[in-house]
Amino acid sequence: MKHVSHWIDGAEVRGEGRTGEIYNPATGEVTGQVAFATVAEVDAAVEAAKRAFPAWRDTSLVKRSKILFAFRELVDKHRDELAALISSEHGKVHSDAMGEVARGLEVVEFACGIPHLLKGGFSENVSTRVDSYSIRQPLGVVAGITPFNFPAMVPMWMFPIAIACGNTFVLKPSEKDPSASIFLAELWRQAGLPDGVFNVVQGDKVAVDRLLEHPDVRAVSFVGSTPIARYVYEKATAHGKRVQALGGAKNHMLVLPDADLDLAADSAVSAGFGSAGERCMAISVVLAVDPIGDALVEKIVERTRRIVVGPGDDPASQMGPLVTAAHRDKVASYLDIAVDEGAKIVVDGRTTPVRGGRGNGFWLGPTVIDHVTPGSRVHREEIFGPVLSIVRVRSYEEGIRIINSGEYGNGTAIFTNDGGAARRFQNEVEVGMVGINVPIPVPMAFYSFGGWKASLFGDTHVHGTEGVHFYTRGKVVTSRWLDPSHGGVNLGFPTNS
Ligand code: NAD
Repeated sequence: MKHVSHWIDGAEVRGEGRTGEIYNPATGEVTGQVAFATVAEVDAAVEAAKRAFPAWRDTSLVKRSKILFAFRELVDKHRDELAALISSEHGKVHSDAMGEVARGLEVVEFACGIPHLLKGGFSENVSTRVDSYSIRQPLGVVAGITPFNFPAMVPMWMFPIAIACGNTFVLKPSEKDPSASIFLAELWRQAGLPDGVFNVVQGDKVAVDRLLEHPDVRAVSFVGSTPIARYVYEKATAHGKRVQALGGAKNHMLVLPDADLDLAADSAVSAGFGSAGERCMAISVVLAVDPIGDALVEKIVERTRRIVVGPGDDPASQMGPLVTAAHRDKVASYLDIAVDEGAKIVVDGRTTPVRGGRGNGFWLGPTVIDHVTPGSRVHREEIFGPVLSIVRVRSYEEGIRIINSGEYGNGTAIFTNDGGAARRFQNEVEVGMVGINVPIPVPMAFYSFGGWKASLFGDTHVHGTEGVHFYTRGKVVTSRWLDPSHGGVNLGFPTNS
């Protein structure tokens, strides 16, 4: 049985604390143990990162970017292996895991351009013979705390940019699928990253709390559920840290009567059930504007029934199991809640056949619930599983009112052929990432990812230029080189002359 360790100062550290179990969600079997870091182990990782910082921040931009290029090549070379590892612990199908690695790699590619991204401004003669220029400098030791649903991509939203900017990094990945982090740490070593620049501490709340309190951690990036995001934001800012904490989601897709219904149905099913709905950008509610409700539901149901559910390593599977038994049970409990709330289950995932049999895997098939009432629990709460709710609405106005009254503001989409309606939607909707006839509008690496409202605590989104800003501090230098005309003593406030 495998044992997943920490990675501190360029090497694996087995860990002396508690351990947690790692499952294969397709079979329900325990496949390994993961170390849970003690406070002393977190301190050792932060100390290694602190020691590595001075030399790394002074490593030339060209050298840093060479190491990033080498890392990019290594991840690319091993993407199949990494995807298989993700699939074995998370449960997602191989093609989906490959997609996750590809999207993470795009952030590495963006970070390879760090010499350009860190360019400052320069103004000659801001005053007579005085020049001014702006530079951005790294913060020091920064931490990333990440969720189970993207064990490679979400950490890769953070560390390539943080490291490229000259910081040193401590990652605390999800304890549910921890192996990808160690795999990536080994690739950093092979790429020539100096010891201590990238570290991993495995574990739970003990490790997280120590990172949030540690005086040498300058900034924290968090991605996970809203209650923990709020907690991380409050605790880390109280300890004087810069924080970006991305939380949960409840993403709506508004389908106007003029939309292409086949495109809308394909999109709703793909975005609702891809990765078994365990994506923060999954569509979980379709708002069908009268009179297309019945026609759209019929198309969605027909496509949902054709989804092949099975183990992630079976190439015929389109959708895998959920991550844990507890999560599967929680998601399934919403089917009972839906019935209690008067909604109608039109496809029941509890009875979906599974390729190779269910065994003790954490299965729940794709589920469609129609006539969900706005404001009901099924509509309001993040379910984070393969459950697609349909809410029937009378108009665009009713649809947007429902979206904007929600707690979350991560992603949303409108399906229409009316450019004016789409433009109005993009302007009025209170959500951070908007799709127009695109169901999962995840920004590319050179834009920034992040939601509004309870989907993000903090001011900066991740990756893209906001990522570069998050991991650096601005400084402006005003310089004058000695000249006989410097003017002597002047107690007045500096002004241009
Ligand atoms: P989670 O909040 O349970 O865990 C996230 C991280 O926090 C993990 O590393 C975990 O070990 C740690 N953690 C858990 N409980 C903690 C506690 N009490 N104190 C301190 N640390 C704790 O989230 P999850 O179940 O791993 O991931 C799913 C959630 O993440 C969903 O809500 C999903 O919407 C969200 N998510 C959001 C985004 C986004 O970009 N907004 C992206 C991916 C996932």
